[in-house]
Amino acid sequence: MLVAQLNGRLIEADQIDSQSKTKKLAYVCPQCHQPVIFKHGHCRIAHFSHLSRTACPFSENESQIHLAGKLRLKTDMLALGYSAVLERIFPQIDQRADVFVPDLETVLEYQCSPISFDSIKRRTQGYLKVAKRVIWILGPRYESMHYQCEMIAKFAKYHRQLGFYFICYLEKEGYFRLHFQLREMAGKLIGETQNFLNLAALLAYLKRPPRSVQPRFLGQKTVRRQLLKQLQQIQRCNLTGRHTYLPAVTDCYAFQKLFIGCPLICHGNRTGNLPIFRRSILCWRVWLMLRLFDGSRLTMSDRLLTGLFEISYDQFKIDFAQISDSKPFFKAEFRQFLIQLHDQGYLRQTVTGIQILKWPVWFTDYDQKRLFIMTAPRLL
Ligand SMILES: [Zn+2]
Repeated sequence: MLVAQLNGRLIEADQIDSQSKTKKLAYVCPQCHQPVIFKHGHCRIAHFSHLSRTACPFSENESQIHLAGKLRLKTDMLALGYSAVLERIFPQIDQRADVFVPDLETVLEYQCSPISFDSIKRRTQGYLKVAKRVIWILGPRYESMHYQCEMIAKFAKYHRQLGFYFICYLEKEGYFRLHFQLREMAGKLIGETQNFLNLAALLAYLKRPPRSVQPRFLGQKTVRRQLLKQLQQIQRCNLTGRHTYLPAVTDCYAFQKLFIGCPLICHGNRTGNLPIFRRSILCWRVWLMLRLFDGSRLTMSDRLLTGLFEISYDQFKIDFAQISDSKPFFKAEFRQFLIQLHDQGYLRQTVTGIQILKWPVWFTDYDQKRLFIMTAPRLL
């Protein structure tokens, strides 16, 4: 930790002058009031640590990267002209913010170690009781273009123009990286990135992104490659009995359909879809497809459609720690799917609901679908 108490006053480790550095002063932890020792040296960041192992929540082993990151966040906020408090303790929620910016009522957290979904959700909700906003900034361990669904669930926020996004701070390189327009393309999570020299530049970008920011339009070649990859994954799951797609496979059997043979439209759209689906958007769209086109009816009322949507939402949504309500995103995807089905001539909107115009044709097997994906001039 970077802050300790000395004679009832808070003191920051990097503000201890050279005279006091060598003295053995009675620093204590501001939380548990147990003695802490001041550690400093040429190659490490000055900090305090508990003299003995205690039950204190702040006695964890902190990495140098984490210490450096916290200092950097504070420095950047000071440079912006705001006051910034290191390791601010909020007794009412029993939490300690890495950096608190009172003027903006904002908590900045630099997350370097692994953290469970429940902890991150609980801590976020705690901070929101004492601050307007909490910004999680992720450490180097999280920096990767191989996005994981769990990570998006824990850290992603939503921005009208930038879509789903999260922020990393690369301590060694000294810059911030924004990952934005996070989306799913045929089973793979993709996104765009932009680097910023300091937090001020990044916050300004979030406040007013340039108009030109759009999700990349993926070429047919990329789409084809990803579709083939997803097809192979499904085939592997079928062969090895891995459970990723098992519920979808079983559901299809009940409708006497082969999951792997589902129409191409089930795989999503060409620019990618919101990363809001348990497993993949594919499972959700197939689930809907089976029920929209079950052969027993030619029309479906809005009431029935809404019912279908609600069931699918409960079944396929993922929980987000930073986003309180994911339903509007699901609704947008539902609308998008109906529009795509309309554009491809499967249905049309009526005054009271939808009317089925033609039934989607399923592929007979893996090989037939694979051949189609490889040779079709236009996909999705
Ligand atoms: Zn303590």
